[in-house]
Amino acid sequence: MTVIDTLYLEHYCMHIDAFINGRSTPGEGGGPVARRSPIDGVTVVGTVASVSPEQVREAIGAAEEAQRDWALVPVSERVERVRTAIADAIADGGHDGLLIAAEMGKPAREADGEFAFAQRYADFCAPRAVEACAEQLVDDEEGTLLRLAEPMGVVAAITPWNAPVILAALKIIPALMTGNAVVLKPSPLAPLAVSAFVADIAARLPAGLLNVLGGGPDVGEALVSDPRIALVSFTGGPATARAIGAAAARTITPTVMELGGNDAAILLDDADWGPELAERIVFGAFLTSGQVCMAIKRVLVPRDRHDAFVAELVAAAARVLRVGDPRSDGVTMGPVVDAAARTRLEALIASSRAAGGMVHELGEVDADLPEGGHWLRPVLVSGLGDDHELVREEQFGPVLPILAYDDLDEAVRRANGVDHGLASSVWSVDEHRAMQVARRLRAGFTFINCANRAGVSLRAPMGGRGISGHGREFGDLGIAEYLQSHSVNYPRTARPGSIMVANRYPVAAS
Ligand code: NDP
Repeated sequence: MTVIDTLYLEHYCMHIDAFINGRSTPGEGGGPVARRSPIDGVTVVGTVASVSPEQVREAIGAAEEAQRDWALVPVSERVERVRTAIADAIADGGHDGLLIAAEMGKPAREADGEFAFAQRYADFCAPRAVEACAEQLVDDEEGTLLRLAEPMGVVAAITPWNAPVILAALKIIPALMTGNAVVLKPSPLAPLAVSAFVADIAARLPAGLLNVLGGGPDVGEALVSDPRIALVSFTGGPATARAIGAAAARTITPTVMELGGNDAAILLDDADWGPELAERIVFGAFLTSGQVCMAIKRVLVPRDRHDAFVAELVAAAARVLRVGDPRSDGVTMGPVVDAAARTRLEALIASSRAAGGMVHELGEVDADLPEGGHWLRPVLVSGLGDDHELVREEQFGPVLPILAYDDLDEAVRRANGVDHGLASSVWSVDEHRAMQVARRLRAGFTFINCANRAGVSLRAPMGGRGISGHGREFGDLGIAEYLQSHSVNYPRTARPGSIMVANRYPVAAS
């Protein structure tokens, strides 16, 4: 038994049941789903129960019942209960980033921040959810208009593996605070930490309000196709989004789709060239091994700066990127999530070379990497055309193309010339100029002189265009997604004794 096995068996090798209707519930949908650590490719970090279609229906039924009462709880009380449940789960539950590091490979220190994020986001959403749910009464010469903001009902939340807790929190918190119930189906590639954390929160709330289901695509499919689901809030890839969209279309269920990105960083000629700029680009591109929807996926640099900046990036990466066991301090990149991802990324590097790209290896790699892990040395690729797959598609890994441009119009056109439209970034010392370029970018979010997590603001709605999806998370819009408008209108013309013009057929003028 290796050191790593011992550590995991001591601390983890846990089994997590589904959480349905206020109870931990063993799965009835076949055997448990095992998650092997990407650190060595073999150690089972833990298993989650796989639920049956009947259990999916049971969870939705419980959520439906709980939601009816929850919607009647005053919003100020709802937001406090959600906030307290999260704070108590964090304080009592022993949830930490080590488990996330073990199950999907991001550095434990980085993963620790996922739980703190849930708390910060709950604090942020609480007063805004109260505001968003407030009734508006207009009483004027036209009559009385009562505008209600009502919860959708039962929300199906489907999440990926790359930031398992953050991406679940972005859905669960605003949904619950605005009066909805939630059934969450996390990814089987990182189901453990999020299922344990969300079940811990759910146990502190009314039974049925928050449910967590384990299993594969059949569970997700059963969930999103159920006609009792009022909203599907999905984060993941475009192929899954198409399947979910088709299922939701059959029941005319609205969706929020947070999909991938192919984010361009445009460095203007007046960027603040130097080591700090290069380090920021490295952080923006390689955080979580590049497996972040809003990571920098392409860098566009003025042609006369290109070669010097490649050298600058290589030097910056040597300073800040260290590939190693993600549980160790000082490691900034763990393995990629699984063997399929590593194989796909290796093929992308090979095809970049074959297409004439120059591949520059980046960062330091620890000498004692556990064998069998899905390790991949980060690389920068220069000299590719825009038609290469690495430039055209989302790579979702530590393989970054750098592209030279001749003039700014061309850079903007090329930045916009992909099917994705999630985020982008503009780098310049001239704020006004950067803002003007930002206005021309086809994206749901543009960062100035920063990117990725460094540029996220809780108050700034985030989401995509094109195949990056629709709907928003964060900010006021991220809360509004979970509410539906209900207008109650009483025109003056409909009042007893009024002329009732509105209720009469028009009469032809004589
Ligand atoms: P996937 O689309 O493969 O999976 C996402 C989730 O969907 C998983 O829980 C998956 O579970 C589930 N799922 C798969 N098929 C179905 C189905 N037919 N019905 C219902 N649910 C289903 O994405 P990944 O997990 O690989 O995540 C990577 C992608 O997510 C990248 O493209 C990334 O850019 C994007 N992403 C977007 C973000 C954003 O905010 N815009 C943030 C983070 C990531 P199962 O595997 O069991 O099928």
